[in-house]
Amino acid sequence: MRLILLGPPGAGKGTQATFVAEKLKIPHISTGEILRQAIAQKTSVGIKAQAHIEAGELVPDHLIMALIRERLAKQDARVGWILDGFPRNLSQAQALEHILQILGNSYPFVVNFNVDTESLIKRMLQRGRQDDNENTIRRRLEVYQEQTSPLINFYRKRRCLININGSLSVMEVTCSLENALSLKSPT
Ligand code: AMP
Repeated sequence: MRLILLGPPGAGKGTQATFVAEKLKIPHISTGEILRQAIAQKTSVGIKAQAHIEAGELVPDHLIMALIRERLAKQDARVGWILDGFPRNLSQAQALEHILQILGNSYPFVVNFNVDTESLIKRMLQRGRQDDNENTIRRRLEVYQEQTSPLINFYRKRRCLININGSLSVMEVTCSLENALSLKSPT
């Protein structure tokens, strides 16, 4: 299965991606996590990405696309994947379509997490990551509205969008996600 998790920062994409990846035995690919590792290891990508992340802005597309191309070409990604935090804008989504065609991959399902802004801010402040201070959070939410939310329509038109209420508890969200993807084992 190929799955894209779409939704604002703090929507719980990472948490849900971990559960689903384990259940389906497919890799959970988080561009944010790859970038945080690159920063910790002080790689050239990490050094280039750091200021953008700390400002709550998107990292330039060419850096992200290089990471994604490399990651999706790996052996473990042949059986499927869950993308968490990618694509983040229309040009990334278009570039992904191209990669899928080249790799001959099936078209992904796209799960969109709807969460009200107040809960998002609360969750991010609780998480306490370096880029989770109040100014950066505000900017990340703006960037989501401006650049990422148009993807909802992009994937709706492709008829692969699944909407989930992400405001509920972690367990409830997992449950509705499993139902939507028909992952429930028969009881
Ligand atoms: P995340 O962990 O997905 O919230 O990502 C943390 C930060 O990494 C974001 O605020 C961006 O600065 C950067 N980032 C992650 N994924 C992408 C992407 N697909 N395109 C551009 N920047 C990204």
